[in-house]
Amino acid sequence: MSSLSESAASAASAFPTLVLKPREERRLQAGHLWIFSNEVDIAASPLTGFEPGDHVAVRSSGGRFLGYAYVNPRTLISARLVGRDPEQPPGKSLLVHRLRAALALRERLYPAPYYRLAYGEGDYLPGLVVDRYGDVLVAQLNTAGMDAMRADVQDALVEVAAPRAILWKNDSPMRLLEGLERRVDVALGEIPAMAVVPEGGVDFSVPLAGGQKTGWYFDQGANRALFAKHVLGARVLDVFSYAGGFGLQAKRAGATAVTCVDSSGTALAAAAASASASGLEVELIEGDGFDTLETFAAGRRRFDAIVLDPPAFIKRRKDHAKGLAAYRKINQLAMQLLDRDGFLMSCSCSYHLAPGELVDAVQRAARRHDRFAQLIAVGGQAADHPVHPAIDETRYLRAFLFRVTG
Ligand code: SAH
Repeated sequence: MSSLSESAASAASAFPTLVLKPREERRLQAGHLWIFSNEVDIAASPLTGFEPGDHVAVRSSGGRFLGYAYVNPRTLISARLVGRDPEQPPGKSLLVHRLRAALALRERLYPAPYYRLAYGEGDYLPGLVVDRYGDVLVAQLNTAGMDAMRADVQDALVEVAAPRAILWKNDSPMRLLEGLERRVDVALGEIPAMAVVPEGGVDFSVPLAGGQKTGWYFDQGANRALFAKHVLGARVLDVFSYAGGFGLQAKRAGATAVTCVDSSGTALAAAAASASASGLEVELIEGDGFDTLETFAAGRRRFDAIVLDPPAFIKRRKDHAKGLAAYRKINQLAMQLLDRDGFLMSCSCSYHLAPGELVDAVQRAARRHDRFAQLIAVGGQAADHPVHPAIDETRYLRAFLFRVTG
């Protein structure tokens, strides 16, 4: 035995062991972080013997140390790996290490401290999401294992990012599946009702405790910039606009008229505040996206550039058929509203919608209305949502920019 594996044995021996069945270590060895219940040798390490959030040392059937993980016996994913270095057990020091690496990436890529600072598995921090609004952090603990480390997470965030305030926005639906309660608490300092996010020449007002998810959809940042390049002199329609991210930036970039549609009054109030603070005039419509598109079609309204950024219509695989129909429907309606030579940016944040299915939805819409669609740019989630190459679920955002003629 080498000295490394001897000390590995000693550090890891402080943790209960989760033993995998023979050959079930292969996915972990290929880089994945998840362990499913059928992969666990429950005779050697019964899952029922663990509490949600317990930390374990994971071993192969042959006894080889594979990494540290946290367990939730109640969920489909029974355990998530948090590290492979035997000398770095889960705790504050490991979190500081991971958060420093996450911060370093963002500091290289972003001109100002407004971004997703931690993106769960994509940053090797399964279950943790943190958005940064200058010196205010909004964080989400989405698994029992991460929730159990709440105090360490908070200390690590303070050490790495020195925030003035931290909000726990622990209200994601995922927490229910993990057996956790949903609640929003101030962890540190005072949380302003609104943050201001500078993006694309607009100062966006963003509701924090009262907003959706963790406040701002940073994942669409690069796609909003891409869309803005195609709107000079255009009449723009931003459907599912939230706080006006696409629409207001388009107006700043030279669109002649902008209409934002969303069902959330809170989101549109934020858009209105940003528009007036930035001296931009836009039309804001509070209503259902489908209904509004239908009304516009019936009234023969026309636009030169349209962005569709709906909520996830396919949250679970079993919703696929219904969700796909909804994507097809909005793309068909948008196709009808596009003037002769226009642009359509069609987005989906449903992991279960394959990229090709969205392209196909647009192509079907084009054929139905006798139009010619050309795919001119493909977008994905911004770099502050890094994809874990072994975990396809971390790559969920699809964005396709089409030119539509004829
Ligand atoms: N484009 C936005 C993000 C959109 S998120 C951005 O870049 O920031 C999806 C939005 O769809 C949310 O704001 C939500 O309020 C809205 N929404 C959900 N269902 C809707 C519906 N049926 N009609 C209109 N808007 C809806």
